[in-house]
Amino acid sequence: MDYRRTKYCPVLIDVKEKKKKVEALVKDEHPYAQDMHTYISDNSEKFKLDFLKVYNGKCAYCGVSVDLIKKNEFEIDHFLYEKAPKFKSKKDAGYIENLILACHDCNHNKSSFWIEENYFDELYPDGEGIKNTFIRDDNYNICINDEYKEDQYIKDFYDKIRLGSELHRLDYLLLNIIGLQEQCKDNEEFYAGLGMIKNVLMVKRNIM
Ligand SMILES: [Zn+2]
Repeated sequence: MDYRRTKYCPVLIDVKEKKKKVEALVKDEHPYAQDMHTYISDNSEKFKLDFLKVYNGKCAYCGVSVDLIKKNEFEIDHFLYEKAPKFKSKKDAGYIENLILACHDCNHNKSSFWIEENYFDELYPDGEGIKNTFIRDDNYNICINDEYKEDQYIKDFYDKIRLGSELHRLDYLLLNIIGLQEQCKDNEEFYAGLGMIKNVLMVKRNIM
């Protein structure tokens, strides 16, 4: 199970192929485009929305969705840090595979965190490995899987990006409530009741 999604969220599939399609759309309009980040991160461009759809409108690190935060609060993260020596310039880091949809908090917290090449598979959000590196426990906490509990590097990443924060627990609860609400649209009373709970929790969320 992917710790970023509830049972109501659609499964994240074909991310790689879908990102290539967004890249093709950019290149249709901008044939000489090299740094995809420039086009995809621009809130006034439709490519940002296309990119959001690739990720089902969810942060690829913590799973917060467009149901909880505004679309323009999503940012485009360089998975491998753009100032790494392997990149001659920021432009070189702007290739589509290196761009990841992240909420402002995750992107900001991650900032200059250096992804070591031998941890790529464990942490790359588009791959399968990350779903095993972190898990969602019964109390809705995002935790490090037992296999990596002693791994200081994984722990550093987890702490830096604040995956253990209470906010992510609350978001997961809210996403469950919203998902359940969508399924119970026919029951007006239940729907309204869940809506009230959601509104109270949203107020709490936005002051956290
Ligand atoms: Zn996030």
